[in-house]
Amino acid sequence: MPDCIFCKIIAGEIPSSKVYEDEHVFAFRDIEPQAPIHIIIVPKEHIESIADITPDNSHIAAKCLEAAAKIADGEGLANGYRVVTNSGPDGGQSVFHLHFHLLGGRTFGQVC
Ligand code: 5GP
Ligand code: ZN
Repeated sequence: MPDCIFCKIIAGEIPSSKVYEDEHVFAFRDIEPQAPIHIIIVPKEHIESIADITPDNSHIAAKCLEAAAKIADGEGLANGYRVVTNSGPDGGQSVFHLHFHLLGGRTFGQVC
């Protein structure tokens, strides 16, 4: 997707602090961290948001969550962490390439 920041990060056209990569998934540190550990996990395939998950591509979202567990382990987050995805303007999404925020290193309150 030519104008997508995250597609450019995956392609190496925009530099990032990469923490993980496999066949389907790329992960890098958030540029404006909201926690001591704040990692963005994205599928390499451009999917706009979780609203676009279908039976055909849901395995890719699952790969992102598998990566989240691996990365959290590698970051030493044995005491817990939060994984968040924002969808659409009302969900607070600002980059329209599906991503999961992995947040850790501090304690989080209840969301609702
Ligand atoms: P959203 O608000 O869409 O859920 O999350 C987008 C996230 O991407 C934000 O936390 C923002 O700080 C991060 N972000 C936006 N542009 C860049 C960038 O160029 N590099 C990195 N590393 N993170 C970015
Ligand atoms: Zn993209």
